[in-house]
Amino acid sequence: MSARAQSSRLIKGATGDWEVVIGMEVHAQVTSKAKLFSGASTAFGGPPNAHVSLVDAAMPGMLPVINGECVRQAVRTGLGLKARINRRSVFDRKNYFYPDLPQGYQISQYKSPIVGEGEVTVTLPDGETVTVGIERLHLEQDAGKSLHDQHPTLSFVDLNRSGVALMEIVTKPDLRSAEEAKAFVAKLRTILRYLGTCDGDMEKGNLRADVNVSVRRPGEPLGTRCEIKNVNSIRFIGQAIEYEARRQIAILEDGGTIEQETRLFDPAKGETRSMRNKEEAHDYRYFPDPDLLPLELTEEEIEALRADLPELPDEKRARFIRDYGLTPYDADVLVAERATADYFEEVAKGRDAKTAANWVINELFGRLNKEGKEIADAPVSAAQLSAILDLMAEGTISGKIAKELFEIVWSEGGDPREIVEKRGLKQVTDLGAIEKLIDEIVAANADKAAQAKANPKLLGWFVGQVMKASGGKANPQAVNDLLRQKLGL
Ligand code: ADP
Ligand code: MG
Repeated sequence: MSARAQSSRLIKGATGDWEVVIGMEVHAQVTSKAKLFSGASTAFGGPPNAHVSLVDAAMPGMLPVINGECVRQAVRTGLGLKARINRRSVFDRKNYFYPDLPQGYQISQYKSPIVGEGEVTVTLPDGETVTVGIERLHLEQDAGKSLHDQHPTLSFVDLNRSGVALMEIVTKPDLRSAEEAKAFVAKLRTILRYLGTCDGDMEKGNLRADVNVSVRRPGEPLGTRCEIKNVNSIRFIGQAIEYEARRQIAILEDGGTIEQETRLFDPAKGETRSMRNKEEAHDYRYFPDPDLLPLELTEEEIEALRADLPELPDEKRARFIRDYGLTPYDADVLVAERATADYFEEVAKGRDAKTAANWVINELFGRLNKEGKEIADAPVSAAQLSAILDLMAEGTISGKIAKELFEIVWSEGGDPREIVEKRGLKQVTDLGAIEKLIDEIVAANADKAAQAKANPKLLGWFVGQVMKASGGKANPQAVNDLLRQKLGL
């Protein structure tokens, strides 16, 4: 990273500059039909306790059986994070008591995770690139949910989530600003969605992050960190880091010290507050789960999954820049979702790629954002947009009419070519007809026409008038050329 970019990420305190250091533990729910150690469904939103097997409810004598698909999803994710896959990993019991944890322990991986070190490349809004180290990825069970708002004096428990597979993805302390942390989570989410290993739905809690934050003077060793638990939106992650960094700087500048502790982010107040300190920290008494054998993978199994990986966002981005001549910015925007990239490619095939990118990014995304719609529900299909661009490229309609046509297709549907025929939207390239319009307008504005030589800006005004008179259908190039002649420019 350039020195300039780095210094712009420092925070100014009362006594000089501070650097914020962030590492994250992201919990991503594995996309799979069944839970990690039982056949119960992972479906979201069922009635309480509708998806609970005897294993999930921890009935005595029940034994966990590993779900092969969850293992494959974790390996796929590791490969997508360019990480080392560990041929041998071990499931441990992490012991603690909680009403929504009927086993009295969570099955997790502690010393021997399924995935080791990897990396994620993140592009920041200013175009700068940062590589974030991945420490590990391990598989573990999710817990159930306590419900405290269903009864005046009783608490209930819903075990639908109990036993659902999670991937905990731990980064190295490589992030240096809220901006970088947000970009990292967005990029990780994109990779998971490409891989199909986690849907990344943060509103449903399917992707959430524990955010570790410390501050230090540039060049000094790492400071003491605080861990902000379970932040469930990218915006909140940014806010939590900004607040926490300033809180720590204020304490240090006041001569105080940072206590290592677990904190919670309150979105309503935009603040973090203490949850428990180091003394109250759990001792989980990890030990290998005697009900489960170590997990062993063969090289062939790993290579088969590698061969089956889809093209990932970084590769797609590089290909879009190389093969379609897109700017890095446009490529970034288009590859953020696989569905968007596919849509673009369908439109770009055999057409001017830059035009296709502009239309997808400006017209289509603009319209989708305005209506809060996903690309999957776009009322204008890739085939329809392709037809609009073809009509424009062959000169049948002007750019202005193309935008109108896009609106018509958006709200009414239909074949763009037929709509152009039926509604008479064809561009007028008949020079005689255009000349007639120009003569009328020049005659009606003789004073302006006389000034045009001295003030060439008036040409634009005349072009506008002629286009308006033609209902946007006159060929703009022809209008321009003819007007120049008539005005003697
Ligand atoms: P623990 O074993 O106590 O959970 P780890 O070493 O696994 O601690 O780190 C947990 C997370 O905290 C990782 O994402 C790591 O990058 C981050 N982290 C560690 N030290 C710091 C620090 N000084 N400042 C910010 N983040 C840190
Ligand atoms: Mg840890």
